Amino acid sequence: MSETNKPLKKPRGKVRLVEGKCIACGARCQSICPVNGIEMSESGEPQIVLEKCIGCVKCVKACPGSALEIFYTQEELTLLAAWEKQGALPVDEIDEDEKKRRELIAGYRNVWVFVEQSEGEAARVSWELMGAGAELARTLGVELCAVVIGDKVEQLCREAFTYGAVRAYLLDHPVYHHYRTEPYLDACCHLIDRHKPEIVLMGASGMGRDLAGAVATRMKTGLTADCTGLGIDDKGNLMQTRPAFGGNIMATIMCDRFRPQMSTVRPQVMPLPEKRDNTSGEIVRDSFAPNEKNIFTKVLEIIREKNGSDDIDLAGAEFIVSGGRGLMSKDNFSLLHELANELGGVIGGSRSAVDAGWLPQDRQVGQTGKTVRPKIYIACGISGAIQHLVGMQDSDVIIAINRDKEAPIFEVATYGIVGDLFQVIPEMIRQIRELKTQPD
Ligand SMILES: Cc1cc2nc3c(=O)[nH]c(=O)nc-3n(C[C@H](O)[C@H](O)[C@H](O)COP(=O)(O)OP(=O)(O)OC[C@H]3O[C@@H](n4cnc5c(N)ncnc54)[C@H](O)[C@@H]3O)c2cc1C
Repeated sequence: MSETNKPLKKPRGKVRLVEGKCIACGARCQSICPVNGIEMSESGEPQIVLEKCIGCVKCVKACPGSALEIFYTQEELTLLAAWEKQGALPVDEIDEDEKKRRELIAGYRNVWVFVEQSEGEAARVSWELMGAGAELARTLGVELCAVVIGDKVEQLCREAFTYGAVRAYLLDHPVYHHYRTEPYLDACCHLIDRHKPEIVLMGASGMGRDLAGAVATRMKTGLTADCTGLGIDDKGNLMQTRPAFGGNIMATIMCDRFRPQMSTVRPQVMPLPEKRDNTSGEIVRDSFAPNEKNIFTKVLEIIREKNGSDDIDLAGAEFIVSGGRGLMSKDNFSLLHELANELGGVIGGSRSAVDAGWLPQDRQVGQTGKTVRPKIYIACGISGAIQHLVGMQDSDVIIAINRDKEAPIFEVATYGIVGDLFQVIPEMIRQIRELKTQPD
């Protein structure tokens, strides 16, 4: 082929900052950049080193504030138009490796969300995943489908339609009444074998973590656990972003040679999409059901956990008052309880507070704890280690109280109070009570 006939390469462009949108999230863009092409200003905003930027869009996808975008020079725009006109690469121009990859993934289509349920009630994380799944399906131009497995759970298919699914695969049988790995694994693999989805999403709950790992192993495909971001690259592969190396960097993981691509996402990481009325979709009923006699696990009784802590749903709380090592002792948490009571909120904490025995483990916020997204998160005596930030930085409003003005928690705080928490919190409580006594 002559030089002039050579297929054009798509220009990649460079990244630039969209003014006023950076939320100083703690340098996620910098940590994900593969070429060290981002420096941070003192105020925590990225400065793109254009000579280094390769337009890989990793930072654009990682940015929680949509503050980064790709731009093209005039010359690149002309090239881009020519590239778009040229269309897809002719088959004989695709290298062997790419041909093999395409063969391997051929025939897989659509985005699936596994609808986790217990006693017919869906876990909220499944609907959160519908929002993320819909976005992926839109980008790929495919359908968003729900997978509903249980006993008398058909209503969940209809609920899935209200969250954006256009089809639901339903396996409804008494053998699925309680979650057990074996029958659910067989059921999922049966559906995947039959319908070949390209992406399968599950909640990173106890059930989701158990099932996703087993399914990925049997289907001989990859699984990325605890994703905090999902996107599609320019070849149509799923980009799965999650903290790595102890949370010090954000890694984007691909599974470009195997299908389905599987991810789990923790509750509260993705926003809940709006529920729409008057929706409809197709229910695909499947009668597959393993024989009870062949299942080794039997559920004799369900005993609800009583672990000394109450049944508070930290991940779903709207107001959280969180304490760290700065609280100095378990007794001092009574101060946080007082503040939380005034706000109608709940108590959370850093891993240091949990390790010290001041709080039960289910109150830990962060990478190895819960991910929270409250309306208000008040961090008291918490330094703001990256492992803590990944669990709370998407809260609507963050108020940080710390006596060290250099503490990293202030980088993600909406309001920062530099001071001794033992003085600041009683004053806050006093002022809230005073406000409450004032007439409207
Ligand atoms: C693999 C891994 C996973 C982890 N997972 C998590 C996780 O899920 N969640 C988590 O939180 N951590 C996690 N960590 C631990 C994390 O790295 C930090 O060690 C921890 O978050 C620190 O907790 P802290 O902020 O309470 O304590 P410190 O870092 O010791 O901070 C205490 C803060 O209190 C301030 N302070 C002290 N006294 C006062 C006062 N009187 N008034 C106001 N401020 C005061 C200090 O200035 C300081 O900033 C993880 C670590 C690893 C390696």
